[in-house]
Amino acid sequence: MTVKTCSMIPMLDLKKQIAPIRAEIDAAIEKVIDNTNFILGAEAREFEENAAKYCAVKYAVGVCNGTDAIKLSLLALGIKRGDAVICPSFTYYATAGAIAAIGAIPVFADIDIDTYNIFPESIENILKRNKKYKIKAIIPVHLYGQCADMDGILKIAANFKLKVIEDTAQAFGAEYNGKKAGTIADCGTVSFFPGKNLGAFGDAGMVLTNDKKAADIVRLLSNQGNQERYFHAALGFNNRLDTLQAAVLNVKLKYLDGWNNKRRENALYFDARLKGLALKTPCVAKHTTHIYHQYVLRLNRASAKLVAHLHSKGIDSRVYYPVPLHLQECFKDLGYKKGDFPNSEMAASRTLAIPVYPDLTKDEMEYIVASIKEFIKC
Ligand SMILES: *Cc1c(COP(=O)(O)O)cnc(C)c1O
Repeated sequence: MTVKTCSMIPMLDLKKQIAPIRAEIDAAIEKVIDNTNFILGAEAREFEENAAKYCAVKYAVGVCNGTDAIKLSLLALGIKRGDAVICPSFTYYATAGAIAAIGAIPVFADIDIDTYNIFPESIENILKRNKKYKIKAIIPVHLYGQCADMDGILKIAANFKLKVIEDTAQAFGAEYNGKKAGTIADCGTVSFFPGKNLGAFGDAGMVLTNDKKAADIVRLLSNQGNQERYFHAALGFNNRLDTLQAAVLNVKLKYLDGWNNKRRENALYFDARLKGLALKTPCVAKHTTHIYHQYVLRLNRASAKLVAHLHSKGIDSRVYYPVPLHLQECFKDLGYKKGDFPNSEMAASRTLAIPVYPDLTKDEMEYIVASIKEFIKC
């Protein structure tokens, strides 16, 4: 049996990721400093071009973070104050926070308990019963790195004349029926938060779309509504992508597929070793690839004790997310209550994510498996 070293196995080790490409990143940063073109410099456009090519999408507009990418997409698609937008109850806060940020109302939908993603029937139930809200859009989230059932969701959206924005913060590089996540619906939004599979050295984000009008509006609004400098055509924001972040992302994008493949290998290793235990390993839907932003296990009881057990063994693990959005304090005025979304509530209490990052060693993975088995047995 492997002997554990004294340091903690973290959820993500960015130092290990950066070390082998450090010289390349340093050179890219130095070039930006030499040019001093810190806002809307050449690297920002270059990264947009590289990302558009990588995703095979017509337009990629760099913005300041993934949350504002959602906000700008909503505005670009004509969603207004007082409109309502469906999103999953089980996701990171920002999905719903961006809806609320433009004065629109988040309407929550439950998730599929196997994929943890919003699913067509759940959305349809809400739409059929809805009398209260002017629902104008759906934001499916490709949670943990696999795509939601986009064909089903797009069909409903067409029936009810709704816009669709894919929250691709956790799934940049995943594919749905051969298309890149974020390029399937009206807009796709990406986060390059440092902990995401493709992470900047600070905040950064992007909007992907094949719709020229939407791309133009996102660009306009992200840059203070500037048509020309000091001529403001719309009430915009300072939501631009930094040149420095773009320079870092230009270097890292080349490595993304390799990193995602390594995550997939690690996930397969865990799948095989954890099979047969009283827990549920991740389930990948037919139509999608999985880039394992998170490797999430579900227990038949609360996961908090396993988190504590792993911590005592020097292994970091996390519950993403312990409180579903319909039960968050900040959304209490929306009037939801416990029991409204049973799958979201079950996921919140019984799941945990274990480390799956590309630089994990075989020894570390073996040790994680052994530590989980020790707990499940007792
Ligand atoms: C990270 C994340 C966001 C927000 O991205 P930021 O770049 O941190 O603003 C939005 N949605 C989901 C699902 C996320 O995981």
